[in-house]
Amino acid sequence: MIEMFVFFKRRVSIIVFLFWLITDCCWAVPLPESGEKKLDLQQSEQIEAILAELKQNDGIEVFYQKIPDFVWRGKTLYQTAGQTDAATLLKFLNLYKEEIEKYPSSFFAKLKIKGFVVVKKLFYKKRPVEGFFDDYTQLIFLDFLRSNDNPIAQRHNIHHEIFHAISVRAREAGLSALDESVWTTDQNNARNRSQQPMNFFDPPHRGFMTDYAMSSREEDKAEMYACFFVPSQNKIMQRWIQKDDSLRKKEIYIKSFVSGFCPEMGESYWRGLSQSLNLHHGHVRGSMARDGTL
Ligand SMILES: [Zn+2]
Repeated sequence: MIEMFVFFKRRVSIIVFLFWLITDCCWAVPLPESGEKKLDLQQSEQIEAILAELKQNDGIEVFYQKIPDFVWRGKTLYQTAGQTDAATLLKFLNLYKEEIEKYPSSFFAKLKIKGFVVVKKLFYKKRPVEGFFDDYTQLIFLDFLRSNDNPIAQRHNIHHEIFHAISVRAREAGLSALDESVWTTDQNNARNRSQQPMNFFDPPHRGFMTDYAMSSREEDKAEMYACFFVPSQNKIMQRWIQKDDSLRKKEIYIKSFVSGFCPEMGESYWRGLSQSLNLHHGHVRGSMARDGTL
C-alpha cells in the first residue's frame, strides 16, 4: 500500500513538474503565423536601408524577421511583420530612427545592448505590452503595431525601455550613489492608482508624471525619463515642475543619473534637447495616461 502511495506521489510530482515546465518556464515563442506572406523584396529593401543607417551611425541591431532565441521565465509571445504590415512597420521604423537620433553617438556603445526586437502582438505573461527590456539577453522588445494610432505613446515607450537598460548598466557599474529618497515620495499612493479626470495644469497625482509611474520606483524613473524626449510631454513636464517640488527633484536626479552613465548627456545636452523639441509645434496633450509598458 505504501509502495503504491509513493508511486502515485511520484507520478503526481512528475505531472506537476511537466505542468510547470509548460506553463511557466517557457521559451519566447512566436505566435502562429497568420498565413500572411512575408514582406516582399522592395519593402524589405526600404526597411533594411533605415536599419543599415542606424547600424552604421550607432552600432544598433534591429531584429524584425529573424528573432534571436532567448529564454524568459514566463510567456513572451509575439508575431513578426507580415506583408500587410509593411507600411506600418516602415512608419514605426522612421519614428524609431528619429528617437534613436536624439542620443549622442557614444550612447549606445555604453548601453551595450544586443539590439532591438521589433514585432507585433507582443505579450508578456498573457498581458499585452508595448515593450520590455530583457536584461538576460540584453534585448529591448518593441511592438510596432499596438499603438500605431498613438505615435506619442510609441515614442515615449522607446525611451522608457531604454531607461530600464541604462538602469541595469549603471547598477553594474556601481553608479547608484545618488540620493534615492526623492523616489519614495507618495509612493504609498500606488495603492490608490486610478484614472482620474485630467486637469491640464496638474499631474494626475502630485509627484508623478503618469499614473503608471506610481507602480514602482523603476517605472517612475523610466516614465519621467521618457517624458524628456517627447515634445508634448516635455512641455507638460516643465509646466508641472514649476509647482511640484517632488517632480523637480526627480528631474534633477534623472539628469544627474544619466549624465553619470553617459557624460555626453550633461546639462548642455538636456538644454539642446529641449530646444530642439520645442522647434516641433506638436499638439500638447493634457493627458499622460498610457498603458502596456513594463
Ligand atoms: Zn517599464
